[in-house]
Amino acid sequence: MTQPQHGDVHQAGQPQADFVRSDVVIAGGGPAGLAAALSFAREGWQVSVVEKAPRSVLEAPAFDGREIALTHHTVHWLKQHGVWDEIPAEAVCPLEVARVESGRLGGPPLIFHAPGAPQEASSDEALDGEPLGYLVANHLIRQALYRVVSRTEGITLLCRTGVTGYQASRNDVQVQLSDGRVMQARLLVGADGRFSRIREMAGIGSIVHDFGMSILVCRMRHLTPHDNTALQWFDERQTIALLPVASDGGIGDISSLVLTLPPDDIARLRVAEDDDFNAEITRRTDERLGLLRVMSDRITYPLKAVYAHRFHAPRVALIGDAAVGMHPITAHGFNFGIRGQETLVQELSAGPGDPGDAASLQRFERRHRRATFPLFTATNAIAVAYTRDDGPFPLARRAGLMLANRLAPFKKAVTRMLMDPV
Ligand SMILES: Cc1cc2nc3c(=O)[nH]c(=O)nc-3n(C[C@H](O)[C@H](O)[C@H](O)COP(=O)(O)OP(=O)(O)OC[C@H]3O[C@@H](n4cnc5c(N)ncnc54)[C@H](O)[C@@H]3O)c2cc1C
Repeated sequence: MTQPQHGDVHQAGQPQADFVRSDVVIAGGGPAGLAAALSFAREGWQVSVVEKAPRSVLEAPAFDGREIALTHHTVHWLKQHGVWDEIPAEAVCPLEVARVESGRLGGPPLIFHAPGAPQEASSDEALDGEPLGYLVANHLIRQALYRVVSRTEGITLLCRTGVTGYQASRNDVQVQLSDGRVMQARLLVGADGRFSRIREMAGIGSIVHDFGMSILVCRMRHLTPHDNTALQWFDERQTIALLPVASDGGIGDISSLVLTLPPDDIARLRVAEDDDFNAEITRRTDERLGLLRVMSDRITYPLKAVYAHRFHAPRVALIGDAAVGMHPITAHGFNFGIRGQETLVQELSAGPGDPGDAASLQRFERRHRRATFPLFTATNAIAVAYTRDDGPFPLARRAGLMLANRLAPFKKAVTRMLMDPV
């Protein structure tokens, strides 16, 4: 790939250019923005992606601790767009079982097996034999998306520059960049993350749910096999997830730790000596996977969920976390990002040929809200109910898990929703 000489501009499949008039400008080259660029380009629209980070970050994103649980629908989309082939097969970990537990004294766990597994009472012909989903490191997904974007005709990447403002008129939108350039397009897509400036500039408010907690994520090695099982454990005063990670050929298995605690505890654990950290995490996990040894950087995130009041404004659409920033507990942020950009491009393609068509944007909003709002609300409710240790909460959740485990139709419905079949 030719390196750009002026700024950090490169038009995939075409000579470099300083300024490009596009059909669509996408603010943000994160997973949602890059996926949207592929979808728009496939429909024959000229797309520019504007990303604040340098190109080197997109080319080789650093490990960020997120292991993304991909639904079947997302994997299908990644395959259709040539992205799946760019992810090393040995880095993909099928998820066979999900266990949800409540507290040390909690009753039996709620267990979801892949459909058709011998332990699963109910079966679902369309899904039998399929894993619940697939876990892949976020940086590998981002790298794979970048590789496909960089060789796709019709996509221009402008790196190391941000969108700082825009003006929408009846027929187009002028987009101001931090390097002083102005771009012209028919649609501006805000894919700039959960604290989106585009959302703010468009005057779109949002529901922000601050859980007052932080998350620490890292990879840990252990000798007890993980058996492709994800554990979500709502313990007293801590929430722990242990997610299976594909083996690297080294000794033992690897799991991703997702630990939710008050910000001060997370700050302390982030910088603790390795030995102290390992001892504390082994104790906190009750030695379920034996002794745990940290093998990656420890990355922390604030725990805030965001839902935009609207997903569009004149000549503007919001996708990814800018539209719906999920609590990671139900592992749906990226999956909704894929779903959202897909719905957006489908609706605009079915419209009169204007990628900023207002009626098509409204249809996108309706469909994406229907697809996301129920799980957004349910996820926040679960996150609150399962992290409160006062009053009736501990007892209620134990009873809830016990009941849910016995309700085969409920479990089947949740399994289907989490797998999101094609
Ligand atoms: C611990 C953790 C675990 C998770 N696990 C899962 C999971 O299992 N399954 C799942 O589906 N999801 C999961 N998620 C969620 C998922 O990671 C996010 O939903 C996804 O990364 C959001 O992608 P995005 O492109 O919308 O936003 P981002 O990744 O935030 O990207 C936004 C991009 O916009 C750029 N930008 C910002 N402002 C501007 C500007 N003004 N101009 C130009 N560029 C700009 C930024 O530099 C960035 O590159 C998890 C998240 C966390 C924190």
